[in-house]
Amino acid sequence: MRIDAITLFPEWVASLECYGVVGRGLRERRLTLAAWNPRDYTDHPTRRVDDRPYGGGPGMVMQAEPLARTLSVVRQARGMDDAPVLLMSPQGERFDHAWAQRLADGPGCVLVCGRYEGIDQRFIDYHVDASVSAGDVVLSGGELPAMMMIDAVARLLPGVLGDSRSAIEDSFVHGLLDYPHYTRPEASALGAVPPVLLSGDHARIMRWRRKQALGRTWLHRPDLLAQPGLSVEQQALLDEFVDEYRFDGCG
Ligand code: SAH
Repeated sequence: MRIDAITLFPEWVASLECYGVVGRGLRERRLTLAAWNPRDYTDHPTRRVDDRPYGGGPGMVMQAEPLARTLSVVRQARGMDDAPVLLMSPQGERFDHAWAQRLADGPGCVLVCGRYEGIDQRFIDYHVDASVSAGDVVLSGGELPAMMMIDAVARLLPGVLGDSRSAIEDSFVHGLLDYPHYTRPEASALGAVPPVLLSGDHARIMRWRRKQALGRTWLHRPDLLAQPGLSVEQQALLDEFVDEYRFDGCG
């Protein structure tokens, strides 16, 4: 899988190569990452790629032409595959686990990072397949959303995480939040580890974790529970969690 990013700050995006799951994905040859600077594809003597907005108003707008030229070089480098061109935009569809999984299952993508007031609409209309948002907030550029997406996709690629079970048990993968985690020491000034986790009884541990995952989702993201509906077994576990929660008066 290959991800290309078009950005005025290619070194920033490329720095992902040195760290964590993206670094491992590259070393394991599961992922290819390349970052391209539109300033390298303009005829302007000072490599300028932005101009004032027609109609007036504040700020600058990224010009379509250098972006289109950069994209055609990226297309050639990719071997003219049909990977989608995704614009980072606060106006786009919210990026989530389903997006990351779809991208991880495909040939990759070309991520276009805007700056300033944004990008000339003609480039978007002509070249962009979908716009993707990091959330309902405006950032000063598309680089952080692009890096977030690259990280999220890389950790879903087979062989990239140290233990592939980690990705399967994470939040959202099964439509629930993750269960709580504990590690050494067994007892500390902050409290004790739930005894079931020390029992060595794997069936009980699994049941406890499933119950906690359901309970946390009920507490923090009830919207997720509404989606596919719960099985009879899940509903029973959740009822148990809710009873205990109400009895204890805490999570
Ligand atoms: N004027 C635009 C915001 C421009 S911010 C508007 O109000 O819609 C400059 C660039 O940062 C955008 O072109 C986009 O690429 C990026 N960006 C800002 N916030 C973002 C977000 N929440 N998700 C994804 N990209 C974002």
